[in-house]
Amino acid sequence: MIFDRMENGDYEQIVYCYDKTSGLKSIIVIHDTTLGPALGGCRMWDYKSEEEALRDVMRLAKGMTYKNAAAGINLGGGKSVIIGDPRKDKSEALFRAFGRFVESLNGRYITAEDVGTKTEDLDIVYQETNYVVGISESYGSSGNPSPVTAYGVYKSMLRTAKEAFGEESLKDKTIAIQGCGNVAYYLCKYLKEEGARLIVTDILEEAIQKFVDEFGAERVDVDQIYEVEADIFCPCALGGILNDNTIPKLKVKAICGSANNQLEDIERHGQMLEERGIIYAPDFIVNAGGAINVADELSGYNRERALSKAGNLYNQIGLVFEIAKRDKITTAKAANRMAEERIAAIKEIHTSFFEKRT
Ligand code: NAD
Repeated sequence: MIFDRMENGDYEQIVYCYDKTSGLKSIIVIHDTTLGPALGGCRMWDYKSEEEALRDVMRLAKGMTYKNAAAGINLGGGKSVIIGDPRKDKSEALFRAFGRFVESLNGRYITAEDVGTKTEDLDIVYQETNYVVGISESYGSSGNPSPVTAYGVYKSMLRTAKEAFGEESLKDKTIAIQGCGNVAYYLCKYLKEEGARLIVTDILEEAIQKFVDEFGAERVDVDQIYEVEADIFCPCALGGILNDNTIPKLKVKAICGSANNQLEDIERHGQMLEERGIIYAPDFIVNAGGAINVADELSGYNRERALSKAGNLYNQIGLVFEIAKRDKITTAKAANRMAEERIAAIKEIHTSFFEKRT
């Protein structure tokens, strides 16, 4: 029963979109618009059934509500999926038809890139609607998000260091970085300036070499990164890397990095870290600079403003630590609670304002 599922998960709206000419089959889910229009990407995937597509898009839309709320931005959560094979089924007509459906929602949903969709697809969507972010830079969009993401990670790390070591300085701290990619590169510029010592690893030799040459980083093998003597572990490569295997090996006091879904199991591995006395800065807040960057396009993109908003992740991470202590729960759980509390508070303000006026 779809309405039961909506009621159970607090969903606002589910829109089924079909266009005969292009063959478009899409589902747009708006989970919650308390904080603002629902922002979330459009995933194109060869789902085996409509049920699989619906389940995925509902799960992802709700995740965006939490992510946007916890990042402190004024956007709600939503997501869309296009059912089809991104290698075979893309066409101009398909994305324009999708754009018309997004337009028909009048700004309640704003779409963006996700798995299976690319900037050039969004440029086509943009022909039909302004409610799309992450389009080509030539249209005035935000471009590469990594510098803003990295700044958010840096500020989050400062707050994490304050929690773990009593002062927010990273001077002489050793940071173990997994993945020498885009985010890590911009992050290391800040860390180097702060006087941190860097240990890095990557599966690509040339990626590591750049960090050794430019930042004087020490290199270790891919598997060794979990075992090095360091103050902070900074995952910037893959998800699922905090698990039964790796957590017992860690010798760090804190974890703060950009990779998505770092905990293989939020409950279990969040708890394991807690028991080991390792402070975990929840990834979906730490890496929210990417979403903040793209969302800034909605006000006419300004990089300084995007950086300043990403800098506010310092405060958001601080709130998470406070809630975790207040409620005696893991930081992973506290991040969700913070999002829920923010939404509830703003809903209350909206309601009481409405009541006063009527
Ligand atoms: P990237 O592809 O530029 O860098 C990832 C690096 O990790 C690559 O150099 C890759 O070789 C390396 N890597 C892959 N597997 C590895 C392994 N097993 N061990 C060690 N290194 C490995 O990606 P990025 O844009 O820097 O993003 C890094 C992470 O942050 C990703 O998880 C991404 O989803 C997340 N993230 C990025 C942004 C952003 O703005 N780029 C925003 C939010 C989240």
